[in-house]
Amino acid sequence: MTPDLFDTHAHLHFPQFASDLDAVLARAREAGVRRMLTIGTDVETSRAAVALAVQEPDVWAAVGVHPHDAAGADDPAFDAIERLAGGERVVAIGEIGLDFFRNLSPRDAQERVLRRLLGVARRMGKPALIHCREAHDAALEILAAEKVGEAGGIMHCFSGDTALARRCLDLGLVISLAGPVTYPKARALGEVARFVPADRLVIETDCPFLPPEPHRGKRNEPAYLRLTAARVAELRGERLESMAARLTATACALLRIP
Ligand SMILES: [Zn+2]
Ligand SMILES: [Zn+2]
Repeated sequence: MTPDLFDTHAHLHFPQFASDLDAVLARAREAGVRRMLTIGTDVETSRAAVALAVQEPDVWAAVGVHPHDAAGADDPAFDAIERLAGGERVVAIGEIGLDFFRNLSPRDAQERVLRRLLGVARRMGKPALIHCREAHDAALEILAAEKVGEAGGIMHCFSGDTALARRCLDLGLVISLAGPVTYPKARALGEVARFVPADRLVIETDCPFLPPEPHRGKRNEPAYLRLTAARVAELRGERLESMAARLTATACALLRIP
């Protein structure tokens, strides 16, 4: 039986897929990935994400400004994101968040964009997709202040331990595990995979980035989600098919996708 998988975080409209997207989507469907969420990182890529979701019935879009791109976000950019967010195929606001690891934008710019777009998510009643790297205390404080739990959200590519997972769950977030959970040294992520309650967990590829074993160092794609799913099922001691069905149901309920 093919598992029913939902890739909750992909960048299918990125240039890495420009030459062979049809083949990539065909391999995804073949592997059981029946739903994909493609995610913008600035106004231009958010527009591209929406355009793809309009074309493909099993692809939905999220629009936002990534912390790396926060420095350039001005009022016209926020207006453009808010307009795009009203689109029928747009099911979430993201990705947004804080990245104090690479610090490609100044911290105050990152925090300003995060607050502003969490406000959009709350007003529109759409969940937020949170990117957070080496910035958990600051991010969780803002998420709490902006009441992220009201419309809900996903802590994407979760990279902490069980204590941090607990804090995210308490804020009302769902935890998303990506390719790194398959890496041999990822002991903390293994514990997180076992710790998160069954109805608060989803999975993603974050493709073209972060491929699971044994594809490390290459381009990631949605079809590889099955490898991450299999590893999470193994860690939790569950059957792949039943776990995949439940993870997909959790994602669909949060994103209001049938
Ligand atoms: Zn991210
Ligand atoms: Zn991403």
